[in-house]
Order: sequence, then C-alpha cells, then structure tokens
Amino acid sequence: MYDWLIVGAGFAGSVLAERLASQRGERVLVVDRRNHIGGNAYDRLDEAGLLIHQYGPHIFHTNADMIVAYLSQFTTWRPYEHRVLAMVDGMLVPIPINLDTINRLYGLSLTPEELAPWFAARAEPVPEIRTSEDVVVSTVGRELYEKFFRGYTRKQWGMDPSELDRQVTARVPTRTNRDDRYFTDTFQAMPAEGYTRMFERMLAHPKIHVMTNAEFRDVRDVIPHRRLIYTGPIDAYFDCRFGRLPYRSLRFVHTTRDVARHQPVAVVNYPQTEAYTRITEYKHLTGQEHAKTSLTFEYPSAEGDPYYPIPRPENQALFKRYERLALAERNVWFVGRLATYRYYNMDQIVGQALATFRRIDAQLGHPASG
Ligand code: FAD
Repeated sequence: MYDWLIVGAGFAGSVLAERLASQRGERVLVVDRRNHIGGNAYDRLDEAGLLIHQYGPHIFHTNADMIVAYLSQFTTWRPYEHRVLAMVDGMLVPIPINLDTINRLYGLSLTPEELAPWFAARAEPVPEIRTSEDVVVSTVGRELYEKFFRGYTRKQWGMDPSELDRQVTARVPTRTNRDDRYFTDTFQAMPAEGYTRMFERMLAHPKIHVMTNAEFRDVRDVIPHRRLIYTGPIDAYFDCRFGRLPYRSLRFVHTTRDVARHQPVAVVNYPQTEAYTRITEYKHLTGQEHAKTSLTFEYPSAEGDPYYPIPRPENQALFKRYERLALAERNVWFVGRLATYRYYNMDQIVGQALATFRRIDAQLGHPASG
C-alpha cells in the first residue's frame, strides 16, 4: 500500500514526491506515461553526445530565493542569461524590442530618451486593452506589431493575436534601453548537469518508487494507494465529460550539424518566414564544447502532446467547470500546469508544488500522530 500515487514525474509531481517522502516519511509511487522522468523539462544526450532538451529549450529563471534554495539541494548551477534574436526583414535583431532593435532595423541612432517618444508617435490608442493585438499596437504601433508579433503569434497559436487574450503578448516587454536579456529575473541559470540529473537526485529517496511507461488509467485500480496527486490534464481526469480543453502542441525536429556553431545565440525566432517558429542551439545553454552542434526546430501544431493552454475566455470558463469537480474530489490534489490549465514557468510550478505540500502537511498533521 502506497501513501501516495503521484501522476506525472515533471516538476509538480517530483517536488511533491520528494517533500512527502523526505518530510513526512511517506511511501510514494510516481507514475509517468512517458519513458522518462522530468516532464517537459527532460533533457538527454543525443547520438553526438550533445545535451539537448527533448521538448524545446528550458531556461530557468526566478525572483524567488526560496525556490533557488530548494532546487539547489539537487543541483549546482551554470550561470546563463538568455538572449534571443529575431530574423526580421533579413536581419538578426534583439527581441524583446530594445534600442538596438529599432536603430538597426531603421538605420537610426536614437538615444534611450528619444526612443520613448518614437514609440509614442507610432502607438495607436486602444480604448480597452483586451487582446494580444491591443497590447502591442497600443505600445509600439502597427508596423512593429506586423514585423515581430503578428506572424509569430499566428504560427504559434494558429490564431490571430486579435483573437487571443492579452496575456500572450504581455509576456514580452518593450524596452527603451539596450538591455537585450530575454528575462530580467534576479536568478537565471541552467542546472549544471542538466534537468534530468536534477530530477534523478530529487527522486532518489528510498521511499519513492518511479514507474515510467505507466498510464494512470492502467494503474489507478491495481496499485493500492491512500491519496492521489494528479499533474496530468484536468479534463482527461474527468473523462472530458464537459468537452476537451484546447491545447496548442508542438512538433520538435532535432538535428545535429557538422559545424561547431550555427547561430550567435541560443534561440533565433522567425516571425516573418519559415514554417517553424524558432531554432534552438543548445551549446549556448549548456556551455558544452563539441566539434558538432545540435539544434531543435519547433513547428507548432494543433495535434499532439498538450503544451500550451489556449488563453481564451471560453476555455477558462470550461476549465472552471472542471475545477469545481476537482475541488469536490476527496483525497485528490490537482497540481501543475496541465491540471490547473495555465501557462506557468518552471519556478512557478515548483512554488505551487511547495505550497501544496505545506497545505497537505497542515491538513493531515504529523504522520506519526495519525
Ligand atoms: P509537465 O512537465 O508537463 O509534467 C506532467 C507529466 O505528467 C508529463 O511528464 C506527462 O507525461 C505526465 N502525465 C500526464 N497525464 C498522465 C497520465 N494520464 N498518466 C501518466 N502520466 C501522465 N518554463 C520555464 O521556466 N522556462 C522555460 O524556458 C520554459 N520553456 C518551455 C518551452 C516549452 C516548449 C514548453 C512546452 C514549456 C516551457 N516551460 C518553460 C514551462 C515548463 O515546461 C513547465 O513549467 C513545467 O514543465 C511544468 O511542470 P509540470 O510538472 O506541471 O508539467
């Protein structure tokens, strides 16, 4: 008899397994339908011996010291600041849009003080900012919106930005200075030996058992357990009884090239051309020295594994119906990106899992006292 069955060996499931085993001494079984642990953060050595991310580039960044302290029990870190370029009008320019982006694209030599009024002169007044188009057009105007955002968003989401909630493009800021970092969080780094190694250490507790290639449905009735943590898609847990929650998927094409370096930064976005949205070159993230280089091309798709919840009001309303069912389930906790139907970064999921552990611990009391 296990105290806990945990569905999903990603950040949500692994953090909870580690806490329940190490802090409460409880017996935990973690199952994942994939053939590996780590969820979407899984990385592996490819045939050339280069460390790649199976599900696209994962860059760790956070402002929460507590989350860094927690994960640092299982990994050391390689400092890394993420930089992204976009191929626009045949040029590679920094994204988020900054002073250099504008000066290079338009052959100008504006100062930071001059750039704010330059944007303001192009920005279109939007009475109420509702959509992703509104966010961009009201800050930098329609031309930059067309160059950087419209095509990219249409590829990524299969929808026009005017049909998507404001939160999608609100994630990408616009800067008047020369800061070309993609993220501005206080802590930005990669696990020194990769994510999978970090997960292995997290799950290497004698009270934790891990079963990969194991589907929840196939084990739920045959493996006795007292409580359940579910980190899969919430609609699937309830047999999609109100209909499917829509997700956007991706197809990853991994390839190795016989050159030491393919592009100047880890990620290059293609907002105007190509069927793929971006190319990732992993050596920039890992610092690995190698005569060859490995790349991933990302092709967005409607079919496939669920990656991104699609932020539209009707989808959120459907999620809320499932959430009401979830809240009524006894001895089941729903945690993680798929179970809470929201785009969360890794640090946010670690925070969510740690908070869930504290709630469980408070609710159940000390295991020895029953
Ligand atoms: P997941 O990692 O999805 O884990 C859930 C696991 O549950 C999966 O392994 C799945 O196989 C398993 N599962 C589901 N249903 C079942 C079932 N019925 N039976 C058995 N197993 C099941 N975050 C960042 O902070 N920085 C980044 O740079 C970043 N880049 C990203 C790039 C891409 C392309 C994507 C898709 C996400 C990115 N993220 C990034 C987000 C990050 O992947 C998530 O925050 C994190 O992986 C969420 O962890 P999780 O445990 O909630 O879910």
